Amino acid sequence: MNTAAIYHRPESEYAFLYTADTFRIRLRTCKDDVKKVYLISGDPYTIDSQKWYLEEIPMKKSLSTLVHDYWEVEQTSSTRRLQYGFHIVGIDGTECFYGDQGIFAYESANLAEANYYFRIPYFHEIDRFKVPQWAKETIWYQIFPERFANGDSTNDPAHTLPWGSKAPDRDDFFGGDLQGVIDHLDYLVDLGINGIYFCPIFQAMSNHKYDTIDYLKVDPAFGDERLLKELIEKAHKKGIRIMLDAVFNHIGSDSPQWQDVIKNGEKSIYKDWFHIHSFPVDAYQMTDLPETAANLSYDTFAFTPFMPKLNTANPEVQSYLLDIAAYWVKEFDIDGWRLDVANEVDHHFWKLFHEKVTAIKPDIYILGEIWHSSQAWLQGDEFHAVMNYAFTDSIKDYFVKRKITASQMASGMNHQQMLYQDQVNEGTFNLLDSHDTARILTLCNGNKELMKAVLTFMFLQKGAPCIYYGTEIGLTGEDDPDCRKCMIWEKEQQDTELYGFIKELIYLRKRLSEILITGTIFWELIDDSQDVIHFSRELNGQKIHAIFNQSSTSYLVDQKNEIILSQNSELLNDGKAEIQQFGFILMCE
Ligand code: CA
Repeated sequence: MNTAAIYHRPESEYAFLYTADTFRIRLRTCKDDVKKVYLISGDPYTIDSQKWYLEEIPMKKSLSTLVHDYWEVEQTSSTRRLQYGFHIVGIDGTECFYGDQGIFAYESANLAEANYYFRIPYFHEIDRFKVPQWAKETIWYQIFPERFANGDSTNDPAHTLPWGSKAPDRDDFFGGDLQGVIDHLDYLVDLGINGIYFCPIFQAMSNHKYDTIDYLKVDPAFGDERLLKELIEKAHKKGIRIMLDAVFNHIGSDSPQWQDVIKNGEKSIYKDWFHIHSFPVDAYQMTDLPETAANLSYDTFAFTPFMPKLNTANPEVQSYLLDIAAYWVKEFDIDGWRLDVANEVDHHFWKLFHEKVTAIKPDIYILGEIWHSSQAWLQGDEFHAVMNYAFTDSIKDYFVKRKITASQMASGMNHQQMLYQDQVNEGTFNLLDSHDTARILTLCNGNKELMKAVLTFMFLQKGAPCIYYGTEIGLTGEDDPDCRKCMIWEKEQQDTELYGFIKELIYLRKRLSEILITGTIFWELIDDSQDVIHFSRELNGQKIHAIFNQSSTSYLVDQKNEIILSQNSELLNDGKAEIQQFGFILMCE
């Protein structure tokens, strides 16, 4: 047995309170190396009297990666305390005991010794990671406000171009605004989404507004606070939640704070609001950008001199930003904050942020923009979710980019799932494209069938799916700024067939919400040579089967169950169904 691969860590994604009374325990072993794993567990104070170490509970093999198998078991405890260790049986017949003191040959392990066991000292409900239930049930719709709809031409910025008259360049304005969103709320209700994620709407110079000037003011080109309030109230009445984008890593160089630093240098009252290496700081024009970061006299977002990084360890900056965070929740009743460049802001600040906004609205959703492993932010006292790029990249790399095999995709997805507690996976934010990436239809080279297959595949996973505005009507676009095209509103130019499909997909996700949110995933078959994937989701005896065929050879499946959604497939007479390339079948068992 490869004991070096065996791993567990208490108080982590390997041992966590799932509900108030149930504890979930995971163990990692080398792939295909272990035959059985048993949990030995009991109350720490009764090991001598009850001799619970003589009893074992089998653990279930759950997900696997290309190198590891994961084993899981759920436990309760009437005393709300637990001590536990693992009895591991290798396929080679060797057996070991694994506990708090390490790995021992099973026959020589001192099972009666309390200190040999891992410990959950007490089930603390207050420490349990919780995601608001509504967030798990949400189908998000991301809006880039400058490009969704122009509902009020009187607020258009200077040099606004006619709507959709050209592919967007970096500095173009097309006049989109909040009135445009209000005007199309019924469109979004018809589509079926129930959450809007807005890219920034606060006053800023650029069209993307990630260079904030005033965090307390709606950008005049988008409307004003009164209009935002109206939008949120109307959305709430229609069952749509609203999430705003907080850009707290950095501020715009046009902000009064940074302008004061430029003007007054070391004497500026804001000099400690930033990370400044030397004075005076340079004031850059668009036309004279620094050659390299080495030429910057202060820390910035990436190497962008127009986005000086805020010093969130400074108590003045903390209270400034926390008041802003509280203001929009308290006064405008927003339902979520999406946090831009969240990984480059200190944990200390995000803990203060979490405390502040959840005190006002306990079921607020905090979503961090992190593209990599995010365990440190997902312990329950910072974020509820991250933008799950690492998970969905595996999906895209297989389906769309054809860079990896189906097995590698499943391995990547499983690896991501095993980084987090189950409730994290249930509430996370899944997306195939955004204002920061090329659009999914474009990545699919315009292949609509492929796009539908990959969207369907994502909708069947754990995590709340997000539709980037325009995806539903066939909007295309390369990397930004091309992915920020104007929404098409002329019916005859919209892909209404695609709209109908995505509407159906959203309806299906809502109808099967419980099983798709919490149901376990089981990879029934992954056949790399035939390019076929069959997986199921299961909950309380209910089961959904999904079979996807990406190869040009058709694939036959037994059609034993009711088909609830399909593409490129047909029923044959003999109780079989044939799935062509890019086709899929969803069946309910
Ligand atoms: Ca406008």
